[in-house]
Amino acid sequence: MSTTDLSFQNTSVAFAHKSNGDLVKARWLFRSFNFPALLTYGPTMAKVAVFLGLKFTIKKTIFQQFCGGENIEECNVATKNLAKSGIGTILDYSVEGEESDETFDETFEEVLRTVLRAKGNEDIPFTVFKTTGIMSSDVLNAASTLIEENQIVELDLVKSTLTDDLKQGWDKGLARFMRLCTAAADNRVRIFVDAEESWLQSAIDLMTTHAMETLNKDQAWLYNTLQMYRHDRLAYLERQVAEGKCHYGYKLVRGAYMEKERARALSMGYQDPIQPNKEATDKDYDRAVTFCLENHNRVAVCIATHNEHSSLLGTQLLNKYHLPKADWKVSFSQLLGMSDHISFNLSNSGYKVSKYVPYGPVLSVIPYLTRRAQENSGMAGQMGRELALIEAEIKRRKA
Ligand SMILES: Cc1cc2nc3c(=O)[nH]c(=O)nc-3n(C[C@H](O)[C@H](O)[C@H](O)COP(=O)(O)OP(=O)(O)OC[C@H]3O[C@@H](n4cnc5c(N)ncnc54)[C@H](O)[C@@H]3O)c2cc1C
Repeated sequence: MSTTDLSFQNTSVAFAHKSNGDLVKARWLFRSFNFPALLTYGPTMAKVAVFLGLKFTIKKTIFQQFCGGENIEECNVATKNLAKSGIGTILDYSVEGEESDETFDETFEEVLRTVLRAKGNEDIPFTVFKTTGIMSSDVLNAASTLIEENQIVELDLVKSTLTDDLKQGWDKGLARFMRLCTAAADNRVRIFVDAEESWLQSAIDLMTTHAMETLNKDQAWLYNTLQMYRHDRLAYLERQVAEGKCHYGYKLVRGAYMEKERARALSMGYQDPIQPNKEATDKDYDRAVTFCLENHNRVAVCIATHNEHSSLLGTQLLNKYHLPKADWKVSFSQLLGMSDHISFNLSNSGYKVSKYVPYGPVLSVIPYLTRRAQENSGMAGQMGRELALIEAEIKRRKA
């Protein structure tokens, strides 16, 4: 099938994995996101419901739409369902909690379990972690500031610049980081390092670069994530690839923390790291996709977006450069419960597609679920697309 046969409007392909009951439930859920009061009080109501022993009400509704389960085993159902349509699972341990060594160790062990689950498993093509899950934000923030101020490019030099009270946290965090990346590469499992707030990112970038240069010898096992809503990321990408020190892996996203970034820059009086407008973000995103495909001999890329235009561009470039569709070196990714019209139609056309499948105890994933609800609400200005597609499919099935 050529790229011209690809249509993201084909709702019968997009929702073939959903029963009529599933679709009616999803319609009800997406409609409910348009009640501002529910968005405001929903997270608290959800916590109360869990404490009152009504966890199943959350689990059967919003949790079921956007999460795979409370643990890896429970995610098997989602993984198998996606695999039936050729879509890979990315087990994403989405617990957001307190910062302590105990919690960092627990998260480290859990991510390690996802790596071992992915080993030799075609249904789980990638794994992922957030550095703030295994390392203190204060340490990352301090290290990032020092890296930027002193233009540090060698990871070994970071520790000596940190104050004594942060050195231990740096050592422990870095050790967890390197152990996860090494375990992934040793087991021939690809692993994404998620991108986070800009004031933490320079340390994450330096650790990831070090790990890529050490571990991406024969191919890209480790992928950094680039947020193209940052105006400095395209230059960063071009500069790094020009160094040619290893195989590079990138997950390209637009970026999830725009409001927070702008507010912090304004309140602290530094230059806003975010692009001036959406058009500039879109332009750099598409240029980054193009650059990665132009450099496909050394660069593996995951086009992680719910944007139809950028997804289509990826398919057109694969075609232009005569690259195989069925190779994870260039792939596409969306979040579970969102943009099935992109995921399932891409996969149906032979492209490599994966979905983030977030999981964790219901109470701990409420912040993640709240973000999904807000993103799909009128308040976020994105209301309608998911709902319109679900309604179109319900109508099509009735006709
Ligand atoms: C598989 C996957 C993995 C992800 N991993 C990460 C991650 O590691 N780190 C992370 O930060 N995010 C991550 N995200 C979220 C991502 O960054 C986006 O928030 C989300 O996907 C929406 O962008 P889009 O490309 O899908 O679609 P669109 O709807 O086309 O773009 C929306 C995005 O455009 C940008 N934007 C909107 N308005 C403006 C404006 N006025 N000026 C400048 N830019 C603007 C924002 O980034 C906004 O999120 C991930 C998303 C997916 C699908």
